[in-house]
Amino acid sequence: MIQIIKPIPQCLLVQFENKSDLSLCFCRVQEFHESKLANIKGVPASFADFIYAHMDSKGAITYFQEWEGYNFNDKVWRKWLPWERTKHEKDLIAIMEDELDIRAPFYVIGTLIGDNDTVNHELAHALWYLDSNYHKMARAILKTFKENDCFDYGRMLKALSNMGYHDDVLEDELQAYMSTGTIAELREIDFHEVVKPYVNRFRSNFKGALNEQQTV
Ligand SMILES: [Zn+2]
Repeated sequence: MIQIIKPIPQCLLVQFENKSDLSLCFCRVQEFHESKLANIKGVPASFADFIYAHMDSKGAITYFQEWEGYNFNDKVWRKWLPWERTKHEKDLIAIMEDELDIRAPFYVIGTLIGDNDTVNHELAHALWYLDSNYHKMARAILKTFKENDCFDYGRMLKALSNMGYHDDVLEDELQAYMSTGTIAELREIDFHEVVKPYVNRFRSNFKGALNEQQTV
């Protein structure tokens, strides 16, 4: 079963009952955008190449267990669109074409049904991309944080990098974690109490922008 929701304009949230369908719809476009593997990032890899690149020498693949949610924007999608698409990818594209104006900027999120923590995290990415006021404010908070507390800023980015995020998306990930993450999630990225004022500013920016977008 799939649930289709539009939480804010031009943002499509597709929720799945199980992780196998979720992963198979999103994994190739996601890793085309931000893989740490040079033979996958920016490369229109076949599904066989994708599997091979993520498999260890014993044949094990942990990739599909590692991620709770996926996201991509229209720019990534236009660059990616492979000539050979799987059934899962075709199904996702059909939903996008029904629900979105695919010639305009858009954002697509995939999660499991009921996983609200992940939805909020992905919505912070969607706002970063689609809402210029949100983006401007989040950038301003990041700048103040970096200038006033370079040590904590640096170690949180490092923690995100160690979790597998590509350098290109570290600032976006940091704002998404700080805007929506639970305390346990923030601890995973080396959160210390001293950073709390920035967390509060990110959260109020997130709530304000979401309210505004949802009343459009
Ligand atoms: Zn993220």
